[in-house]
Amino acid sequence: MATRTPAPNTTIVVSTAPSCDICPIEWGSTSTATVDGKLTATPFARAGQWASMCETHFLAYGSGLGLGKGQRYVVTA
Ligand SMILES: [Zn+2]
Repeated sequence: MATRTPAPNTTIVVSTAPSCDICPIEWGSTSTATVDGKLTATPFARAGQWASMCETHFLAYGSGLGLGKGQRYVVTA
């Protein structure tokens, strides 16, 4: 078996990536989310809540990738 598979539970396949949930709250703008993940403590939501996040917000507030932490969106056309 030479097949390589990605690490489990780190991606989620979607047909259309949602918008970042945090950009409108923090910046009043919208952007495409790249990760669905659990939040660390933020100024506007409890730690442990889940949100769609753009890369910037994932790096700022995300808990990482994996089961129970977060999944990176993989968009299929
Ligand atoms: Zn954002």
